[in-house]
Amino acid sequence: MGEKDPDFYIDGVRSGNRRILAKTITLIESAHPAHRQLGRTVVDRLLPFTGTAARLGITGVPGVGKSTFIESFGMMLVEMGHRVAVLAVDPSSTRSGGSVMADKTRMERLSVAPGAFIRPSPSGGTLGGVARMTRETLLICEAAGFDVVIVETVGVGQSETTVASMVDFFLVLMLAGAGDELQGIKKGVLELADAVAINKADGDNLEKAKKAQRSYEMALHLLNPATPTWSPPVLTCSALTMAGVDTIWKTIQDYHRRLTGTGELEEKRQRQALAWMWSRIEDGLKDRFFSNPAVKDRLKAIETSVERGDLSPTVGAETLLFLLDKHGLV
Ligand code: GDP
Repeated sequence: MGEKDPDFYIDGVRSGNRRILAKTITLIESAHPAHRQLGRTVVDRLLPFTGTAARLGITGVPGVGKSTFIESFGMMLVEMGHRVAVLAVDPSSTRSGGSVMADKTRMERLSVAPGAFIRPSPSGGTLGGVARMTRETLLICEAAGFDVVIVETVGVGQSETTVASMVDFFLVLMLAGAGDELQGIKKGVLELADAVAINKADGDNLEKAKKAQRSYEMALHLLNPATPTWSPPVLTCSALTMAGVDTIWKTIQDYHRRLTGTGELEEKRQRQALAWMWSRIEDGLKDRFFSNPAVKDRLKAIETSVERGDLSPTVGAETLLFLLDKHGLV
């Protein structure tokens, strides 16, 4: 069975072969159209074996302790017998250096644990590209038998919303200290949170963390919960001492139990799948628009006319869209 054959990847992933798992992710991340097509076929055929993991998103500003937390939390889960995959969404990352999230060197123990798999953020350029690859990688990891998939992201721009839209449970890590309680509220990240955890609740910082916990509880109280089944709790933890880390896992399990019981988890995943399809349609339509030869030909001139006021924006848009009609979408 050759490397052009989807069965090579499907069988390899299903049997838990890490080398083939990594190769499959490389296909998904490839810029090469034939590789991507093969990757799509593999993902599609592995779909029946997905949906089995607890999908967990984790965010927080740089320095909050994400990698320390994921290392501690991931090791705890591995020791409990779980299989844990750690992925990342960081649109600013590049292969040739820069900030590569979920980096193996940042999670020394977890990266060598037999029950764990760590994959840094793809360097896809746009958030849309990175999100597509990560979402597909998440599915592949599930098919490979990982029962907890963690997607890490950094607290910038739209990447938090993107990660929240591909996971069951979104955990926001926060720090106690000057003004950052408010920062989180302003950025709207609390609205995405299924739980908030104040990290570094240890040593001299413990009192401050407890105080921050109370103010976040008040802030969250003011937000309408997404469902009556779940009010996002505010917890404290220490990724260094492990204090409170087990409570976070219990909270996630509790969430899964409750929302599975009411059918809401299934509905959430269905909503996410549909939203995902629509975002792919939007991306696809845009790609086709910009790569259409007739559009390429006329775009600059029409833009200039609209700028000069020779052509109304509406007529400009309609002219370009009409070119797409006339010359086909592909
Ligand atoms: P990231 O940028 O969010 O991934 O943060 P890191 O995990 O790299 O942590 C930033 C710094 O905070 C490191 O020096 C960690 O050792 C420290 N740190 C992380 N978690 C804790 C914690 O729970 N307590 C204390 N005291 N320090 C922590």
